[in-house]
Amino acid sequence: MQTVLIVEDDRAITLSLEEFLSGEGFDVQTAPGEKKALQLLASGRPDILLVDLGLADGSGFSVCRAAKALKLPVIFLTARSDEESVVQGLDMGDDYISKPFRPRELLSRIRNVLRYYGADSSVVSLGGGITADTEKGVVSRNGDPIALSALEYRLLLVFIDNRGRLLTRNKLLEDIWDIAGDFVNDNTLTVYIKRLREKIEEDPQDPKIIKTVRGIGYRMD
Ligand code: CA
Repeated sequence: MQTVLIVEDDRAITLSLEEFLSGEGFDVQTAPGEKKALQLLASGRPDILLVDLGLADGSGFSVCRAAKALKLPVIFLTARSDEESVVQGLDMGDDYISKPFRPRELLSRIRNVLRYYGADSSVVSLGGGITADTEKGVVSRNGDPIALSALEYRLLLVFIDNRGRLLTRNKLLEDIWDIAGDFVNDNTLTVYIKRLREKIEEDPQDPKIIKTVRGIGYRMD
């Protein structure tokens, strides 16, 4: 489990972020200001920091400097949108997000930065000996590559990017439409899910990786 340290002096934002990111499977630490953030950095090592620029007791830039000394990734989260702050933020940190922000966008930025940092974090274990290296585009069973078609692989990526979340058939169709185009309708989606399961599930009749949520869609945990 990866740990996100939220450094933010607005209690409401901290709480909503904490709830959202916990729900997405992150371990969350919070610091209302610079002092507490530096203490947490000294005692443990989060995988990534979300840092507000204007803190009641200091500046997000100093927190970023301390994190960078430990080679940790930092995403700034701030209401400041003046060019100078943005440029300085981008120079020092790894990404810069303006408030108000969209949680799902924030999540995908966090994942991008984490992917960039950890070479190993591109390798995702799906259980049953199946791993997917999303950087190399290789899916393996116990280390042996499995041949997936472009569409099967894309479908699998959609599940990986949405782990733990219920995916409706419509959402899946939307997400694979760009490579599948008009060729995919509801029925062919069923066929592709079936093919994918035959390749990655130990027992395709009793799938453990891509689960069916009756009448609604699918979920990967
Ligand atoms: Ca603030």
